[in-house]
Amino acid sequence: VTLPACPSPVAWASLVDYWAHELTPADADAVEEHVFACDTCTERLGGVGALARGIARAPRRKGGMRLMLTPSLVDTLASHGVRMRHYRLQAGESVECAVGADDDLVVSWLRADFAGVERVNATALDANGAPMERFEDVPIDRKNGQVVFAHAGDELRPWPDLSFRMRLVAVDAANECERLLGEYIFHHTAFRAGG
Ligand SMILES: [Zn+2]
Repeated sequence: VTLPACPSPVAWASLVDYWAHELTPADADAVEEHVFACDTCTERLGGVGALARGIARAPRRKGGMRLMLTPSLVDTLASHGVRMRHYRLQAGESVECAVGADDDLVVSWLRADFAGVERVNATALDANGAPMERFEDVPIDRKNGQVVFAHAGDELRPWPDLSFRMRLVAVDAANECERLLGEYIFHHTAFRAGG
């Protein structure tokens, strides 16, 4: 199903907050007014609900700004018209990345060898190698050997030019014995409206 493009789509963060009942009544009214009249944004809101069914706490976690996904969830989101940009990296690779005006999510597919791996933790590191955020026991797509990570476009659009890296490590059931699986370097170019 291809829905018409919405000329003024509700922001992803607003859809997530609306779904989580975290908007003020006035803001919720504004989202409802738009969504009731817009099939495209109705579908996108359905995508947030599908995300919640796939990973229970995903949409609530920090406003759905940074998410670990699975390939089937990505497919479900796409079928709901959630607008995504994709980057695919092998371990050790770097990529020049950016965010567009219409991207709800920017999805990174991080490949590694997960043979014999029980659990995987992921850490986002800044350009100096300082940890920014840590994700424990992330979903592993074992069939395709990858972990799928998404940033909300709403989070990325204010970012300046910057570099960061994601590090995947294998851990045992006691969350010990870390072993590096791969690092993935992102060189982000700042969003410029109309540019
Ligand atoms: Zn709309």
